[in-house]
Formats: sequence, C-alpha cells, structure tokens
Amino acid sequence: MNLDFLQELGLKADNDGTSTGQTSHHNSAEHIASYSPVDGKLIGKASVTTKDQYEAVIQTAQTAFKHWRTVPAPQRGEIVRQYGDALRQHKDALGRLVSYEMGKSLQEGWGEVQEMIDICDFAVGLSRQLYGLTMHSERPMHRMYEQWHPLGIVGIISAFNFPVAVWSWNSMIALVCGDVTVWKPSEKAPMCGIACQNIWAKVAKDNDLPEGISSLVNGDYKIGEYMTKDGRVPLVSATGSTRMGKIVAQTVGARLGKSLLELGGNNAIIITETADMDLVLTGALFGAVGTCGQRCTSTRRLIVHESRYNEVRDKLKAAYGQLRIGDPLDTNNHVGPLIDKDSVNTYLKAIESIKAEGGKTVVDGGVLEGPGYESGCYVKPCFFEVKADSKMAQHETFAPILYIMPYSTLEEAIEIQNSVPQGLSSAIMTTNMRESELFLSTAGSDCGIANVNIGTSGAEIGGAFGGEKETGGGRESGSDSWKAYMRRQTNTINYSTTLPLAQGIKFDL
Ligand code: NAD
Repeated sequence: MNLDFLQELGLKADNDGTSTGQTSHHNSAEHIASYSPVDGKLIGKASVTTKDQYEAVIQTAQTAFKHWRTVPAPQRGEIVRQYGDALRQHKDALGRLVSYEMGKSLQEGWGEVQEMIDICDFAVGLSRQLYGLTMHSERPMHRMYEQWHPLGIVGIISAFNFPVAVWSWNSMIALVCGDVTVWKPSEKAPMCGIACQNIWAKVAKDNDLPEGISSLVNGDYKIGEYMTKDGRVPLVSATGSTRMGKIVAQTVGARLGKSLLELGGNNAIIITETADMDLVLTGALFGAVGTCGQRCTSTRRLIVHESRYNEVRDKLKAAYGQLRIGDPLDTNNHVGPLIDKDSVNTYLKAIESIKAEGGKTVVDGGVLEGPGYESGCYVKPCFFEVKADSKMAQHETFAPILYIMPYSTLEEAIEIQNSVPQGLSSAIMTTNMRESELFLSTAGSDCGIANVNIGTSGAEIGGAFGGEKETGGGRESGSDSWKAYMRRQTNTINYSTTLPLAQGIKFDL
C-alpha cells in the first residue's frame, strides 16, 4: 500500500503526542501504538502525555486565552478560514489517513475532511454573527442587552469513529467564540489527531500566533480525566459511549463545570405502508452498513408496517448479498473493517445473544478470513428478525447488526421507536403527509434528529447535531450550538441622572 500520505501529514514512526501549537513537547516514556484495522500494520506511535506535560499545556493555554479573547472575532474567523484552506490542500492525504487508521471507506474518509472544511466555512461566517438580544428596560433612560463572552479552555474528548470531524465541529466553533482548545483524541486513532495538529502548527506559525490556542494531548481515559477533573477547563465536550458520558458528566458536574455530551445512539427507521421502496433500500442499507455500522447515527432498527414487512426483509436480504467487504481504500468496496479485535468480539457476542433470545437470522454474521482479511477485523454485516421488546435491540452494539420488526399502527411504531434509552437519530419513510407530520409532532419522535424520507445516518453541519436521553443532550456544529462555548452576560446601562431602585425602595440620602 502507498503510504506517502503519512509523510505529507508530517507523521513519523515515533510522534510527539503533546503539542501546544508550533511546539511539540519531548517524547514521554509511554507510547500508544496505532495499528491499522485495514491490514493490521503499525502506522506509528504517539507519545502519551505525562501529568507534567499536561500542566504545561494548560498553563500555556491559559496564557494564550488572555490574548485570543481580545482578538476581534472576525480576525479569529480569518485564522479559521486559513485552517480550512490548509485542509483543502491536504484533503486527499488526511482522508486517506482517516480511512487507513479508522477503517471507513476512502469516500467516507474524504467526506469527513469535507465536513471539517464545511464547519470552517460555517465558523468564518459565524465570527461576524455572535449575536446577543437587546431588551426594552422597564426603567426610563435605561438600556438592556446581552452579550456573549468566551469561556476559556474548552477540553475536547473524541471517539475513534469520527477521528477528525468531531474535533473540528468543536474546535473551529470554539475558536471563533474566543476560546482556546485542548484536544484528547481517541487512543484508537491518535495519528489523526497529530496530523490535524501538524496542519494547525503551520497556520499558527504563518500568522505568528502564540502557543496554546489549539493544543493536543494524547492517551487513554486517564488523560481525559485530567481534563474532566480540572477546574481550569470550564467546558468539557465529550463524544463517545454512554458509559463514558455518565462518568464524565458526574466528574465535571461534581466541580460544577459544563459538559457537552454526544453519546451513543440506537437509531430506527419507520417504514410505512406508503413508503417509496427505492428510498427505503438505499437509506436502510447505507445506514446499517456504512462505516461498518460504527456511526453514532447508524441505522440499528427497522420498524416496518406489517403489509410491507416481507417485501422489505426480502429485498434488503438481496441487497446485503451485493455488498463487497474489503480494503476500504479500494473504492470498489462498500464495507471496511471494524476498528479492532475487541470490537469484533463484541459483535460476535451480540450475535450469540440475539440468537439466544430468539432472534431469527435473515443474513448471518461472522468474521472473514483469508487473503485481504489478515487484520482479523473484517466482519459480515448481518440482520435479524426480532420482537419489538427484544433486549438486544435496546442496546447500541457498535457494529453492522440490524434488527427488523413489524408494526400495525403508526402510534405503535412511534412507541417502539421511542422505547429505547437512547435518542439520537430517527427517520420515517412515507409518502403520506399525515404520517410524516405525526412523526415530527410532539407526539412523534423523541430524538434530537428526525428525518423524513432520508435515513438516520449522517447529518449536515448547518443543523444542531445531538440527541436526547442517554445520547447526552448536547448540541454541536451548526444552528446556535455556538452558545454552548460562550457565557451569556446581561448588561443594563443607566443614562439618566437618577437611580430608581426596584420595588420603589427609597433611601434618605
Ligand atoms: P469511548 O467511550 O470508548 O471513548 C471515547 C473517548 O472518551 C476516548 O477518547 C476515551 O479515551 C475517552 N474516555 C473514556 N472514558 C473516559 C473517562 N472516564 N474520562 C474521560 N475520558 C474518557 O467511545 P468509542 O468507542 O471511541 O466511540 C464509540 C461511541 O461513541 C459509540 O457509542 C458512538 O455512538 C459514540 N459516538 C457518538 C457521537 C455523537 O455525536 N453522539 C459521535 C461519535 C461517536
């Protein structure tokens, strides 16, 4: 395999995992080795951030914040614009790295970098639109308004499955808001983090920016905990499993810090009597097998009207038969590997449990072996008929496992859909306006994302992204998500010559 992209991105066999911008800290004794799930080969090593290095990063970030918050927001936007341009230059290489280190298809790897570019563009526009409201005061010759100030250091903890985009959603918005960021990427994709930071370092140098505006730390949950326990980090934005989010929320909450949580999903498509079958097949198939079922928005459940049930099941079964599984950098393949062997074991155990609780196999799973599958991480996307109250269908198994179940009334379908603990993405396939409106109404989907005639998977950066219940309640990316990265201040200005007190209170002065 041609790995020239590693060189373009400044990656070596042995990389500094800690950086405050242009300066990388000296290697520590401990390293994370990153192996590609594509071919099982070592990509490189990242040094793990020590406690002392973490201290230096935070102190540098605190100093940088004092400068950065005073830079006018549109000028901060100009830096983000340049970062977006640098990403355009390195889109091919970074997309290849994402695909090679994480295992998603090359098209999806490039797509992830495009999302980063898009959020940069969004953030540049936003840098002139950090609007506050004005209010009419109840007192004469008084003016009231609110304004938004940056918070300080934003800690970003990210998951392996979107190893570059999630950071940019947080970081690019936080930067135009005047915050500085410290990123701990997933220990399963550290090279992606180092590559993004290397690109940042060049932009920072070209603009003579101080160290500490965008910093990188590396390691497992213990390094994440440095941030969640640190009162100098007012906001921790954490993306990952619900298990992780519950710990992070409690740790940050114990010091009354703010957390922004983007956690697991268990996303369903409701397929009604009037659904357009072409849309159903494309939406369900891509949703279930794209990124090998490792998207937070992956489709996990199909809730199908009983009149269309057999048709959907059989057509989807035939579509699964067409899937090409293999090297994700080969654009002829549809499905790449799972991230690692732990993930393969979780997948195998889930299939056992589905069968043990009476799930009926439509397309069976299993691990692929032989030439091209040496990493041991390639599995077959599979799907099972289960009852609406199936225990396994309540859980997010982060793998290409799909459940299909019938319903008879739309109210029942919505209830099944909402009956799981997670609330990220949802969809209805229908050509009946009454059905789509009910699904989108207060009596409809309880998720943060509800789509009509589009699958559950993915989202445009322009909308606020996130979900309810065990998905954590956070919102990132577009719309007014930026408000999470700022503090609101209400200001009242008296330009009269008197100071009227509330409730008519008077002093004899
Ligand atoms: P994970 O929870 O294992 O790890 C995510 C990150 O959290 C890693 O960087 C990890 O080191 C860190 N971490 C773990 N425990 C921690 C702790 N106690 N304190 C501080 N940091 C800690 O998740 P994963 O396996 O990398 O990713 C898959 C999960 O992420 C899935 O559940 C998926 O749905 C979810 N996800 C959600 C979204 C979303 O936007 N809702 C997006 C992507 C992924």
